[in-house]
Amino acid sequence: MLWSGWGDPAKARELPEQVRRLLHDLLGVREPTAPAAALESVRLPPVALEPGQVRAFADLVGARHVLTSDEARVRHTRGKSTPDLLRMRAGDGTDAPDAVVLPGTHDEVLEVLRLCAAERVAAVPFGGGTSVVGGLAASRAGFAAVVCLDLSRLDRLLDVDTESMIATFEPGVRAPEAERLLAAHGLTLGHFPQSFEYATLGGFAAARSSGQASAGYGRFDDMVVGLTVATPAGSLDLGRAPRSAAGPDLRQLVLGSEGAFGVITRLRLRVRRLPAERLYEGWRFPDFQGGAAALRALAQDGPLPTVLRLSDETETMIGLARPDAIGGGDSGCLVIAGYEGSQVSERRSAAAAVLTGLGGEPLGTEPGEAWAHGRYSAPYLRDSLLAAGATVETLETAGFWAGLPRLYDAVRLAMLGSLGSPLVMCHISHVYETGASLYFTVVTAQEADPVAQWDRAKAAASEAIVRGGGTISHHHGVGRDHRDAYAAEIGPLGAAILRAVKREVDPAGILNPGVLIP
Ligand SMILES: Cc1cc2nc3c(=O)[nH]c(=O)nc-3n(C[C@H](O)[C@H](O)[C@H](O)COP(=O)(O)OP(=O)(O)OC[C@H]3O[C@@H](n4cnc5c(N)ncnc54)[C@H](O)[C@@H]3O)c2cc1C
Repeated sequence: MLWSGWGDPAKARELPEQVRRLLHDLLGVREPTAPAAALESVRLPPVALEPGQVRAFADLVGARHVLTSDEARVRHTRGKSTPDLLRMRAGDGTDAPDAVVLPGTHDEVLEVLRLCAAERVAAVPFGGGTSVVGGLAASRAGFAAVVCLDLSRLDRLLDVDTESMIATFEPGVRAPEAERLLAAHGLTLGHFPQSFEYATLGGFAAARSSGQASAGYGRFDDMVVGLTVATPAGSLDLGRAPRSAAGPDLRQLVLGSEGAFGVITRLRLRVRRLPAERLYEGWRFPDFQGGAAALRALAQDGPLPTVLRLSDETETMIGLARPDAIGGGDSGCLVIAGYEGSQVSERRSAAAAVLTGLGGEPLGTEPGEAWAHGRYSAPYLRDSLLAAGATVETLETAGFWAGLPRLYDAVRLAMLGSLGSPLVMCHISHVYETGASLYFTVVTAQEADPVAQWDRAKAAASEAIVRGGGTISHHHGVGRDHRDAYAAEIGPLGAAILRAVKREVDPAGILNPGVLIP
C-alpha cells in the first residue's frame, strides 16, 4: 500500500487530458507549488516508549513483531481519508504511533492489552488501515505513548462448516484473500466494498462496512454470526445460534465499536455459494427522482438485483460511475443493476419489466460491465487528482425514502455553500425496503490549506445530515471525525450508555481513545 496514497503504486492512474482541462476550466484547479513529501522527510514525534516498555512488548509477541522504525510508524499513521492523505503528502506524521506491535494469537492480544493498561499506553487496533473517518488516529492526551496493534499476523481461515454455511476467520485476513480461501470451497462472502483490495474482515466488522453488492449479500454486519473479542477486562465469545431471544444481542455492541471496546480476534461469518453466473447492466432514467422511485420499487416489491445503484445527473455526466470512462458525458441518470447467482436471466427480465414500467431505458451490458471492471479504480484516480491540485473526497449518509430528497438537497447545498463552486456528485449506493444511502463525491480546487478547506465543508455537510434527519454514516463509521455528530444522533443517554460499557471492558480507557465514544 502506498504510504501517502492508495493501493499498489504500479496501478497508479494518469489523469486523462480532458479531465485536466475540465478541472482547470470548470473549477480553476492549479498544480500545487510544493511537491509531495518523501517518506524519509515525514516529520515524526520521537518514540515516547521507554526501552524497557519496548522490551516488555517484545517479551509478549517476539522482538521481530515490535517495530519502531520510521517507516513502520509512517505506514501506520492515520487512515486513507483525503485529509489523511493531504497531511501525509505535506510530511505531517504527528499522529504516528510510537511502535507497531503485531500479536499472533488471541492470548497475545489479551496480554498486550493488559500491558498497555498497566503502562497507560493507548492501543489502536489496525486492520487494513483504510479508515476514512479518523478511526486510527487515537488521542494521546493522558497517555504515556500510543501503540498500533497491527492484526496482519492473525490471517487464517480456521474452519469452514458447509452444513451451516459458516466460515471462521481470524480478523487480519484481507478481503481478496478471504475470497480466494473461500473460493477453494466453492463459497463467497459477497462483500465487495471499494476498499476491497486492502481492508480486512476485522475492520469490516469493527466499522460496519457495506459492500457494493449489499442488495444481494447484505451488509457485513448481516454476515457476522459470531465474534471472539479480547478486551483489557477479558474475553467475550458471542453468537451461538442463527437467531436468539436471549436478551439484547451483544454482538451488536461489538459491531461498529471501532476498536474502542475490544479487539475482534475471530469472526464466524455466513457464507454463500459462489455465483454460477454474473451479469451487470446499465439503465438510463431521465432524472434522479424517477430513478430513485424505480430503485424503491425494486427494494420494496422486488425482484431485487444483487447490485443496485443510481448516479445523479452530475455523476452520470462526469462519468464517475464508470471511472474508466471518466468524462463520458452520458446524460440523464445511470442505474447499474447486477445479478449474481442462479436464475439470472429470469430475475433480470422481471426487474427489467419494473424498470421499463417506471421510465427506464435499457443501455445493455456495456455500462454495467464497465462499472464492474472499474469498480476499484476510483481511489487510484483520487491520488492523481490530489497531485494535480484538486481536492476530492467522499461522504455518505442514509435515510428513509420519504426524507431522502430533502437529505440529498440539504447535503448538496451545504457543500456548494461552503466550497464556492465545487463539483458535487451523488449516487444511491445501497437500498433497503425502508430507505437508502446517499454517497457524495466532491471535487474542488485546493486552497492554500486544503485540510482546513475540507474540514469546513465536512462540518457543513455533517450539520446538514444531522438537521436533515439522516445518519452521520451508513458505512464509513464514526471514528474521530463523526464523533460529535454521532453524539447528536444518539443523544446524551445513548452516549452515557456507551461510556458505561467502555468503563466496564476498558477501565483504563486505553483502547482507541478519542474514537467513537462521545
Ligand atoms: C478508497 C476507499 C474506499 C472505501 N470504500 C468503502 C466501501 O465501499 N464500503 C465500506 O463500508 N467502507 C469503505 N471504505 C472504508 C473502509 O474501508 C472500511 O471502513 C473498512 O471496514 C475498514 O477496514 P480496515 O481493515 O481497513 O480497518 P482499519 O481502517 O484498519 O480500521 C477501521 C476501524 O476499526 C478498528 N479495527 C480494525 N480492526 C479491528 C479489529 N480486529 N478489532 C477491533 N477493531 C478493529 C480500527 O481501530 C479502526 O477504528 C473505503 C475506504 C477507502 C479508503
